[in-house]
Amino acid sequence: MKKFLAMLLASVMVLGVAACSAPVEEATDTTTETKETLIMGTNAEFPPYEYHEGDAIVGIDAEVAAAIAEKLGMDFKIEDMAFDSIIPAVQAGKVTMGMAGMTVTEERLLEVDFTDTYATGVQVVIVKEGSAITSVDTLFEGGYTIGVQTGTTGDLYSTWDLEDEGLATVERYNKGADAVQALVTDKIDCVIIDNEPAKAFVAENEGLAILDTEYAVEDYAICMAKENPLYDDVNNALKELIADGTVQAIVDKYINAN
Ligand code: GLN
Repeated sequence: MKKFLAMLLASVMVLGVAACSAPVEEATDTTTETKETLIMGTNAEFPPYEYHEGDAIVGIDAEVAAAIAEKLGMDFKIEDMAFDSIIPAVQAGKVTMGMAGMTVTEERLLEVDFTDTYATGVQVVIVKEGSAITSVDTLFEGGYTIGVQTGTTGDLYSTWDLEDEGLATVERYNKGADAVQALVTDKIDCVIIDNEPAKAFVAENEGLAILDTEYAVEDYAICMAKENPLYDDVNNALKELIADGTVQAIVDKYINAN
């Protein structure tokens, strides 16, 4: 019930941001001031960071991004896209920033800049209860089929560590939820994915378990195009929201409140 209330509040907040922007734009006729729009590129298939709730996209990232926009006096909009389209959209200037539970990696740092980190993610392994896979080490014994979401760190690590070594087959899906459905229907042996969406997917499906051993621990941050003049504004706003406890309050609302 508490969780439902949090979700409801979240959608009201995001809708509220959208609703506020209209009168401001109308007002431009009289004030001649146009607000810039902060556009967040994301993949809203990643609960509790970003997911669909009715017509709205809600979640930790959606709320933190809305708070950044508010601090900067900007309008706010979310563009939903495939996870592996986010960095190209950031680079092309189609979105102001990418925020999608995105892990800071050396490879991505060659393509985009990252802000300070605002959360920790853990790559975990989801299996069916009673699976022969009992730890990450089992995967290295070879012969398993691993499901991942295309372009995520789960995809990159399992490809480099296991598939490229001839130790596993990696099946790539557009959504984490699709990989989980493939596991439920025995098309694959496990899913490597971030811990928080993993918990959400396991809660929604009977007979699944998350292994105790972690595959990797990572930092989440917002990515922006290199040389984006808004970088300092966005990063400073994020720093302030971390320092004053706003980010933690948003995280608590979605993760610790239940
Ligand atoms: N943290 C993972 C990554 O950055 C997955 C993110 C996601 O699926 N939204 O690759």
